[in-house]
Amino acid sequence: SARENIQINEVLEDVLAVTEHSLNMDHIHAHRDFSDNLPAIVGDTEKLRQVFVNFINNAHHAMEEDGGGDIYLSSRYEEESNRVVATVRDTGHGIPEDVVTKIFDPFFTTKSVGKGTGLGLSVSYGIVQEHGGTIEVESPVKGRGGEKIRGTAFHVKLPVTLRES
Ligand code: ADP
Ligand code: MG
Repeated sequence: SARENIQINEVLEDVLAVTEHSLNMDHIHAHRDFSDNLPAIVGDTEKLRQVFVNFINNAHHAMEEDGGGDIYLSSRYEEESNRVVATVRDTGHGIPEDVVTKIFDPFFTTKSVGKGTGLGLSVSYGIVQEHGGTIEVESPVKGRGGEKIRGTAFHVKLPVTLRES
């Protein structure tokens, strides 16, 4: 696997470059909230793009039947853990409690036949793990005051220094 110095904001922009038009066609709007001067992480740019394409495609699917919605992409540096955190949040239908425990399992899908393979999140999970990182899911999303916000957020936390394993 490649070991490149990666700016996560560039990965997120690359992924929007290939997905944003199709989102807009379904009245879904992308919002960027990127931190400047984030430290680089080390890894495989192409694989990390795939991770975020998977999140955006899932978010798209969770909103298309609503006739639209919003995707919020953000990045920040978490000093305590020396990690870069990239979040993809949507305003879609959310993930029920009994489903959320299975979403990273290979072949698990709630989509109809032909609409989903159930592989996206399991592949994403493996890629993030190879980079020494973790994925956390939040659905519904908790607002600043603890209030529940409709939709789902995936937080990808990647160490700034790749651990040898
Ligand atoms: P697939 O997209 O092929 O179903 P994934 O592994 O990408 O497979 O996702 C597994 C399941 O997780 C989806 O079928 C869906 O039920 C749920 N899911 C993933 N992301 C979201 C999201 N943003 N909003 C609602 N449900 C989601
Ligand atoms: Mg998917």
